[in-house]
Amino acid sequence: MPANLADLTARLKPFINRERLVQTATRLVSQKSRTGEAKPALDELEKILREDGFANVERPAGGHPVAPAVALRLESGRAGKTMQFNGHLDTVHLPFVPPSVDGDLIRGSGACDMKGGTAAAVEAFQALRDSGLLTAGSVLLTAHDLHEAPWGFGEQLDQLIRDGYVGNAVLIPEPLSSHIPVVGRGNATWKATIRRPGPPVHEVHRPLDEPSVIDAGAELVARLRQMSQHLATRIDPQAGSEAVFIGQIHSGEIYNQFPQTCWLQGTRRWLPGVKPAEVEQEFRGLVSQVEKRTRTTIDIEYQVIRDAFRLDTSDPFVDVFREAYTATSGHPIDFGPKAFVDDGCSFCSLAQVAAITHGPKSGGAHTVEEWVSSDDLVRVALLYAVTAVAFCQP
Ligand SMILES: [Zn+2]
Repeated sequence: MPANLADLTARLKPFINRERLVQTATRLVSQKSRTGEAKPALDELEKILREDGFANVERPAGGHPVAPAVALRLESGRAGKTMQFNGHLDTVHLPFVPPSVDGDLIRGSGACDMKGGTAAAVEAFQALRDSGLLTAGSVLLTAHDLHEAPWGFGEQLDQLIRDGYVGNAVLIPEPLSSHIPVVGRGNATWKATIRRPGPPVHEVHRPLDEPSVIDAGAELVARLRQMSQHLATRIDPQAGSEAVFIGQIHSGEIYNQFPQTCWLQGTRRWLPGVKPAEVEQEFRGLVSQVEKRTRTTIDIEYQVIRDAFRLDTSDPFVDVFREAYTATSGHPIDFGPKAFVDDGCSFCSLAQVAAITHGPKSGGAHTVEEWVSSDDLVRVALLYAVTAVAFCQP
């Protein structure tokens, strides 16, 4: 570990204010902010920052004016790189759980995913301002809505990136702290609805010139199985293989009625280096062959959740982060896979900047039992502040 990072850690540590951090986290959790409706939490963040003396908080719409994002820059006044901290303040659509503090744990909606982590990033930002230790470059803090599928698909962040709200490297405080994710598969969801023209009728009145939608569904299943065998040969040692997956199939009302529709739903996952548009085209091509052969009509709803992800481990940011991690935690951190898509995928595909997902120890994501450790929020805040100072040096 470079001696200057140990020294920097010691100098920044007194500026991480645990009480303020817990307060920020609970204030963010206290605002209902389901995906698409995150305005109250984003407004609360603006209030927290203004009350703390930041006058230049921006609220870019990012194409979602009902819940404008929050953006704030901390300028050192000297040339250097820009470190971005990015968090989403929307939560999945589950019953609201208000915040509570229980010893080390903060509970409530979004405590884990990811208002806790965003609060740690805010604390790092405040500590950098209070300490005056950011001597070069700048730090950009962004927070937004529309993260959680199927209610959002990252479209607000995508627009923010296109509008220039992007640093030279990004830290994302999602609840993952065991390793640095370096590769992950892209993900799309699809639904295929197979139809024949006539109405549902008793099977004995079945019109003989009309195709069976269940037969067509079976053929689609068989063709997708062939596709999945082929995709299984495209493998990354850490991210796994490409895949097409069927999670649901439905048709018919009762045993002796000739049904009118059959629908199937699932996912398609791909590796970095493959274009999402080509993946979609290949899928649609297969379905249209089944449509022609079976003389049915097949409608496809196809939604890209996020593109695939690869972190360029030779990017200088990666070394800076690993050294800052060792300096603040006392032990090193390894590389590993990114099992789920996150905002890092958007920074990677739209801006080609290095993005590391690293957040606090927490649990219960996408349940009504979310929690986050305050001790670990303090650790993450310090790690973010140290990383920013070290990275922003010219
Ligand atoms: Zn999240």
